[in-house]
Amino acid sequence: MLSADVVCGKCGSVVYKMRMLKSVKDALRATNNRCPVCGAALNPGDFTVAVSKR
Ligand SMILES: [Zn+2]
Repeated sequence: MLSADVVCGKCGSVVYKMRMLKSVKDALRATNNRCPVCGAALNPGDFTVAVSKR
């Protein structure tokens, strides 16, 4: 199974974990387009999605 972590580009925190590969926009919507840790607004080019395979 694939899982993906959305990582804040500012502080490096894992903002959102996706069990399935969904649209990144769905992940951003779940966090109100903000990093809950540092409060930075997240733009699609501003964070990284780390995909890991189990
Ligand atoms: Zn952050």
